[in-house]
Amino acid sequence: MDRSQGKKEGMLQSPLPAVDDTEGANIPTSLPFVVDAHVHLFPDSLFQSIWEWFDHFGWPIRYKLNAPCAIEFLLSRGVGHVIALHYAHKPGVARMLNAHMADLCRKYSHVTGTATIFPGEEDAEEILLEAFKMGLFGVKLHCHVQCFELDSVGMHRIYRVCSDQDMPLIMHVGREPKSPAYKCDPYLLCSAQKVERVLKDYPTLKVCVPHMGADEFESYRRMIEQYDTLWLDTTMTLAEYLPFKFEHSLEEMRTDRIMYGTDFPNIPYAWDREIRKLNNLGLSEASLAGILGKNAAELFGFGIGGDPVKQISKRSRNVWQK
Ligand SMILES: [Zn+2]
Repeated sequence: MDRSQGKKEGMLQSPLPAVDDTEGANIPTSLPFVVDAHVHLFPDSLFQSIWEWFDHFGWPIRYKLNAPCAIEFLLSRGVGHVIALHYAHKPGVARMLNAHMADLCRKYSHVTGTATIFPGEEDAEEILLEAFKMGLFGVKLHCHVQCFELDSVGMHRIYRVCSDQDMPLIMHVGREPKSPAYKCDPYLLCSAQKVERVLKDYPTLKVCVPHMGADEFESYRRMIEQYDTLWLDTTMTLAEYLPFKFEHSLEEMRTDRIMYGTDFPNIPYAWDREIRKLNNLGLSEASLAGILGKNAAELFGFGIGGDPVKQISKRSRNVWQK
């Protein structure tokens, strides 16, 4: 590995400014079914700490909404389904966080919640299996916060559980946006090359890398071509807010492996900024429908539109009522 890469300063040297862009009232009715595949939901106290962190080191958060309000905000504006993500920032809190997420999913049938675990913590397998039995679907990890090595014993345990249970693993393992306020250096821990190793070693493990793999866009563009088990999400890469330019044409990429996501509510601009950008890219109807909703519906195993009870029918076979 090139250790000099770890010296890169990263995009969040100092907090970025707010953007006072105008927000739309609703998702345009002309658009196909929309799934926001990257929404953060935490208990109130944790949300407060995360927002404080962002105020100091990231960007001013425009929508400081607690979990129920964030869900209702999106659903009331025409988002059809939400994939909810959270992450344990230390060992010992995953069970509590998973229970909170499962409660939200019971209350809101249009929310699919993922489980969390702190890589390396005791009883990881048991905690994840419990979470899946509670109805959570998939696991979210955040390397910048959890500071894990992709090739560690703790991570292999998680790969195995997800692979055996056919649960998608959403891992923020791109190197950016890096902040000096993180306790570890994502340039040392994360690389597309390391993720490719995992894809090779676990050929049935479904992996989603958010932010189009920022900032190794070209490597991830190639990897979704090559691996049927890799997905990317668009979160914050289309907004033209972070100090990088995503220059690839989505239409020329493998669009059945890309999902629309936002990072809502932890964003500094209008809630629909990225959906408007996506809608203006001139994508084919099939690509747009896939990126906006169909790809996420397939990966997370729910139908689109119609009866919400039917939407969870595929999952109920595996985990819902065990
Ligand atoms: Zn996120």
